[in-house]
Amino acid sequence: MKILVIGGDAAGMSAASQIRRRQPSWTVEVFEMGQRVSCALCGSPYFISGLIKDIERLVAVTPERFEKERGIKIRLRHEVTAIHPARKSLTVRNLDSGQSREENYDRLVMATGAEAIEPKGLEAGPAGLFYLRSLADAERLREAALGAKSAAVVGAGYLGLEITEALVRAGLSVTLLGRRPAPSFETELQNMAQMALARPEVTFRPGLEAVGLARAAEGGLEVAVSQGRPVRADLAVVGAGLRPRSGLAAAAGLALGDRGAVAVDRCQRTSNPFIYAAGDCAESYHLVSKKGAYIPLALGANRQGKTAGLNISGLREKSPGVLGTSIMKVFDLALAGTGLGLEAARRAGFPYAVKTVVRQPSKPDYYPGGSEVVCVVIHDPITGRLLGGQLGGTVDGVGQRINTLAAALTAGMTVKEAAGIDAAYAPPFAPVHDPVIIACEIASKNSGSGGGTRRS
Ligand SMILES: Cc1cc2nc3c(=O)[nH]c(=O)nc-3n(C[C@H](O)[C@H](O)[C@H](O)COP(=O)(O)OP(=O)(O)OC[C@H]3O[C@@H](n4cnc5c(N)ncnc54)[C@H](O)[C@@H]3O)c2cc1C
Repeated sequence: MKILVIGGDAAGMSAASQIRRRQPSWTVEVFEMGQRVSCALCGSPYFISGLIKDIERLVAVTPERFEKERGIKIRLRHEVTAIHPARKSLTVRNLDSGQSREENYDRLVMATGAEAIEPKGLEAGPAGLFYLRSLADAERLREAALGAKSAAVVGAGYLGLEITEALVRAGLSVTLLGRRPAPSFETELQNMAQMALARPEVTFRPGLEAVGLARAAEGGLEVAVSQGRPVRADLAVVGAGLRPRSGLAAAAGLALGDRGAVAVDRCQRTSNPFIYAAGDCAESYHLVSKKGAYIPLALGANRQGKTAGLNISGLREKSPGVLGTSIMKVFDLALAGTGLGLEAARRAGFPYAVKTVVRQPSKPDYYPGGSEVVCVVIHDPITGRLLGGQLGGTVDGVGQRINTLAAALTAGMTVKEAAGIDAAYAPPFAPVHDPVIIACEIASKNSGSGGGTRRS
């Protein structure tokens, strides 16, 4: 059997590794248009800030090791330009020689990832304008930051906030443009993000959209904004969201989901029985809404790649599904979320969903080093079912707490059941009644006649 993989990062390399482990006699070949495979893109903001000095530390496994230890053929700087499902083949262009050739497959894995949304007027290209989608982008941005004093960051979602902190730590002053900070979080946590940005090196201009870019007469760039004077900066970085890189799939006639991601079943099979898709280019199965969702995150990409590989190898395995559990840091603030937010829950078929907000200390008052944790719990008051949760506070305060909520959601618990979790207590770690447990307890008092007890 000959298996071809398009894209050599989290999803693609997980699939390739699983197949070679289970079927060592099969040919597995990966086409990657970039210079590296298996990169920890998540670490790139910390390279830009200077915290991580050597970018190669962000490469988990080198192409040489994949070839030598796992027998996977890696073709770097090879871009797949077309899929021909009828003859089970690909067109591949060698980006160094410019030559194209056709390659046949028995099974194909699409792991092409996501691409950055380019706001109108800020299309990639001009010198001084950066997008962050690869380690090569991170190297270029770090290089430019070393010679710069100021930056404009477009987009105040998790990417924009992480880039803002990275550039400030690299010594730049930053003007941040975005409608709201941390828009995927509830208002209480957005307010915390706004406060975390209130520092001398950051000018946050909420409500403004970047609409164009020009070279400033005196050097550097001018970012035109929807209202008022343009923002002058030595460089500009756009982190305005992602969309699935699914153009190849669409051109090959594969079915796409609502958000344009490749539609897959829980075995990662696409609408073509010989083609699988995994990672940021594909849909995920959401464990709360029980529907397809687009959630481009690293753990899900790795797991989907593994599932695709197992199924291609002959096993029958389902992807475990996702909750969108995520965590981020901006300066001294950590924000984390799992499951559905309030509006998303109401849209997903829980029209009576409510949220409970508590503010609690992360450690007993008498123990040094504690801080306030804001815990938001979203639940269905009719059934008591937990639907989502969010946390804001210090890295220490929020850290692993979000995983308690993620585990409760995975188990399908009601808020009453979650409030009954036998959580650990010792003063250096948590108060005897943990903030997450208190939030679920209070939420359970706001449930219907069942009091949030699950009926089976
Ligand atoms: C700055 C940053 C920070 C992040 N931080 C976090 C975090 O903290 N936590 C988290 O969970 N997630 C984070 N993510 C998201 C995480 O990196 C992705 O979810 C993960 O990389 C997805 O893996 P993937 O293999 O699906 O896609 P990708 O990593 O995008 O890889 C796709 C690969 O396919 C290649 N490719 C695409 N098209 C072709 C083609 N036609 N031919 C050949 N090759 C092709 C690309 O070059 C790329 O290497 C972050 C992302 C970025 C950019």
